[in-house]
Amino acid sequence: MIEMALVTGAARGIGLATTKLFLEMGWQVVMVDRDEAALEEASRDLHGTHPILCDVSQPDQVATLAEEVGHIAQYGLKALVNNAGVAEFGPIGETDFAMWRRVMETNLDGVFLMSQTLTPQLAKAKGAIVNIASISGLRASTLRVAYGTSKAAVIALTEQQAVELGELGIRANCVAPGPVRTKLAMAVHSQAIIDAYHDAIPLNRYGSEREIAEAIAFLASDKASYITGQLLAADGGFGATGIGLP
Ligand code: NAD
Repeated sequence: MIEMALVTGAARGIGLATTKLFLEMGWQVVMVDRDEAALEEASRDLHGTHPILCDVSQPDQVATLAEEVGHIAQYGLKALVNNAGVAEFGPIGETDFAMWRRVMETNLDGVFLMSQTLTPQLAKAKGAIVNIASISGLRASTLRVAYGTSKAAVIALTEQQAVELGELGIRANCVAPGPVRTKLAMAVHSQAIIDAYHDAIPLNRYGSEREIAEAIAFLASDKASYITGQLLAADGGFGATGIGLP
């Protein structure tokens, strides 16, 4: 039987790398993104993918998506990777409510909505949820009131999911990436942040999309069949240093 994964934010960055890794594992992938042009381009030459346009923060769009997934994934979903995310940095005083909501809608509401709506498909395959948090959810900084709070909430939500959905055979885990040179990160990382990360990270470099995908695929696979409710930081050792976020 061919395993089926659904990856959100699959049109680029970590989501696209994760999609490619699942394909290498012989799985099929429902690629979800709200950027139509990027999704079309990313999925064009990837055999075994099912691209679906959807904004994960919109309940009506997620409900329609779940119907489509029901037709595509007849034996259920083996993995749901809640990867779609946005980053906007600013201190409390410069974070207006619209910005706060934009960050929460995708990073937190999207994870809740997708997981809740697709629970029947996950239960059918005794599948796994992998939520993408961030090292920004593990410690505070002067720039990340919205982003960091949204990611801390994703870590808490993952534990709630593990406790509540375990009886359905669904596992839920979380990956906290360190910095990766994606479009999202490069829009908010100043040169000062880049330099500080290089010095502070024990491996002295940013991670690659592929390195994060490997952690995601492990938690999604049966190799992690007795692991649920956990956080796996793929951060080059940054968390072990105790150094604050730049
Ligand atoms: P990216 O910007 O390269 O890709 C994100 C993708 O998500 C885009 O294709 C975008 O269109 C899509 N997306 C955004 N909002 C969406 C929505 N509401 N509905 C559907 N699709 C949506 O970003 P990335 O760096 O690959 O980030 C992936 C995840 O990893 C995010 O959750 C991010 O917070 C997290 N993360 C990234 C880093 C990093 O340094 N890049 C570090 C820690 C955590």
